Amino acid sequence: MAQRYVRVQSHLGQFHYGILQADRHVQVLDAPPWLEGQSTGAELLPDQYSILAPCSPSKVVAVGKNYADHAAEMGSSPPQEPLIFLKPSTAVTAAGSPIYYPPQAQQVDYEGELALVIGERCCQLQPGEAKAKIWGYTIANDVTARDLQRKDAQWTRAKGFDSFCPLGPWIVREISPGAQLQTFINQQPEPVQSASIDTMIFSPEEILTYVTQIMTLLPGDVILTGTPAGVGPLSVGDQIRIEIEGIGTLENRVRARVHDHAMG
Ligand code: MG
Repeated sequence: MAQRYVRVQSHLGQFHYGILQADRHVQVLDAPPWLEGQSTGAELLPDQYSILAPCSPSKVVAVGKNYADHAAEMGSSPPQEPLIFLKPSTAVTAAGSPIYYPPQAQQVDYEGELALVIGERCCQLQPGEAKAKIWGYTIANDVTARDLQRKDAQWTRAKGFDSFCPLGPWIVREISPGAQLQTFINQQPEPVQSASIDTMIFSPEEILTYVTQIMTLLPGDVILTGTPAGVGPLSVGDQIRIEIEGIGTLENRVRARVHDHAMG
């Protein structure tokens, strides 16, 4: 099993980076692993922590229409260069945490995506430098209020709601180029999305090189690499599960958003 890097909140309320062991114990690190975090010698037992998103990005940069079949289902042709947008860091939420369905939206879609975690400050990378700057890989759901995306013509509101970026459950250092991405709704046995990540139009390295010509990326920043065909709507109560071979499973349930600021 590949090493699994997590971020957790302990039962004492402290935030830690760590390594998840096969017995679910977490070996605590003194810093993010991409900043040379070392083991403190402490361990958390399974009932002594809750899992958080595996990094705390200053920004999430996402790529739209990066699989030809998804571009086609959205009624557009593939872009000539990566089409990027931002999701706010406050949209990030953990595996197992709710996706809150906002009252402003009539259609909220899932988008299963491979996420890249950046390990160091990157600015104006040359082609060939990018691979070494990708510290690891995790799973994301680029949740999108599709009706608001169409209505606004730009994507900040549609993509930016709190909880609209489930991320995790952990980071692995390597992934096979032909890894399969699959998305499942509730207990249905057939996936609604199923694609090999090597069918993306712009590769992770090309996307990273492109983004760093525009903005500096900081350690722990995240890039979402786009979703394959098969996006579709979620309803309150749905369970959405995204699996990427070699990483694991990101699972979240949709809940109605409440107005009493009781969001977790
Ligand atoms: Mg997307």
